This record gives sequence, C-alpha cells and structure tokens, in this order.
Amino acid sequence: MKGITDTHCHLNDASLLGKIGSIIERSLNAGVHNFIVPAYDIESLEVTYKIANKYKNVYPAYGIHPWYINESFDLNNLRDYLADPRTIAVGEIGLDYADDVKIPRDLQMKVFISQVELAIEYNLPVLIHCRRAHLDMINALRPYGDRIKGVMHSYSGSKEMINDFLALNLYLSFSGAVTRTHAKKYHRSALFVPLDRILFETDAPSISTQTVAAKDVEPHHIWEIIDFVAGLRKMDKEILVRASMENVDRLFDGRIESG
Ligand SMILES: [Zn+2]
Repeated sequence: MKGITDTHCHLNDASLLGKIGSIIERSLNAGVHNFIVPAYDIESLEVTYKIANKYKNVYPAYGIHPWYINESFDLNNLRDYLADPRTIAVGEIGLDYADDVKIPRDLQMKVFISQVELAIEYNLPVLIHCRRAHLDMINALRPYGDRIKGVMHSYSGSKEMINDFLALNLYLSFSGAVTRTHAKKYHRSALFVPLDRILFETDAPSISTQTVAAKDVEPHHIWEIIDFVAGLRKMDKEILVRASMENVDRLFDGRIESG
C-alpha cells in the first residue's frame, strides 16, 4: 500500500530535531511516508528549509503563527521561501483568541490577511490555526473565498460552522484531540465533515491523543486518530484512508508523492 501523509507535524520543533532521523524511520515502518512541516516563527523558517532539503519526504510550509507575530518582522522576508519549488503551503498562519494569547486581535488579523494574500500571489494553499476565532475567520476569508484553498488544522470549531469553511474551499484536519473520550464537540465535527474534505495530522509534538502524551506524539500515531474516526463513522478504515489520500492529492495538486 502507498504511504499516507501526516498533514501537519512539527519535525522542526527543537525537541524533535535531534531524533528526526529515527522518527522518520519509525513513521516509514508504520506506513506514514510523507510529512507536511509548517514553520511558525522567524527562526523556524530556516530550520524548516534545512530539514526539507535533507529529507525528501518532508514538505515545508512557511508562515508566522499568531503566537509568534513580531511587528518588526517584514513579511516580505517570506517571499524567498514561498518561491522555493519544494514549498507546499503558506503556514501555519491564523487567529488565536484564547485568553492565554496576548497578541492583539487587530494585529493578528492584519498579519493573517497579509499572509493569505501571499498565498494567493504564490498560488499556494494555506494551513490555518484557529482557536476561539472561527466567526472572525469565516468573515475575514469570505472576500478571498474563490481564490484560496487550504486546511483548518486540528479543527476546533463547531459542527454548525463546517459548511461555511467548506464553502471557502477548506479541508478539515483532525488531530489527536478527536481521540479523547470526552471531546464530544470534535466527535460531532468528525462525523459531519464530508469524506471528500477530511484530513489527518498529529501536530507532533503539540497535541496529545487519548493514549499518548503530546511530547511523545510522533507521525506514526496518526493511526490512532484514523482508527478512532473510522470507528466513530462506523466505516471501513481502508475507505477512510483512501479518501484522505485522495484529498491530499487534490488539495496539494498531486505534489506529495506517495511512495
Ligand atoms: Zn502546528
């Protein structure tokens, strides 16, 4: 069988850099063959670039995450990275209105929209982080609706908002958060999302699963997520896997080589 893709994992995280070779080897042995690795802050741009040049199955995305917005950083510095032929997306970018995030919302919005416009200019999908900001997200993206496509990463919005995100050409990605027994809101979303818009990711090493602590999560743990959602939807796992692989092909224009 062809290998699957972890559509969002931080092999560029400082805690994983030293063991990236063994992590990739364990993933390959488990049938997880490709890794979309989004940068998040200024330093991680170059780290991500280097990893992607060393490992051919690492597909890099470049962007500034809302937690790491730095007003003195000129977003034009992203251009060389976005123009690189191996770049798969702009990300991760987004809005985070959770109480622990101190970056002002208007600044978040300005930086987010600038990066969405870069994605359109470079004809790349967007990888979106969104917490407690889903309505603003929908309203901000609407003017760009026919020119963007991308992923709501580790989707945490409501089931009721899913159709709005689908109308914006966005796919919904599920992480270990959906495997938690009491995560009923996530379960409802994973049941509702149409098969032709579902993706899977681990967000390693940031999101725990029901059985694995966040810091220990690696791309091969994506199977716990897929198994859980297949059970939830009472569907054959192979059909779910095939659908998600077709979605990766469609969203990323066949640029991720399954092998
Ligand atoms: Zn992430």
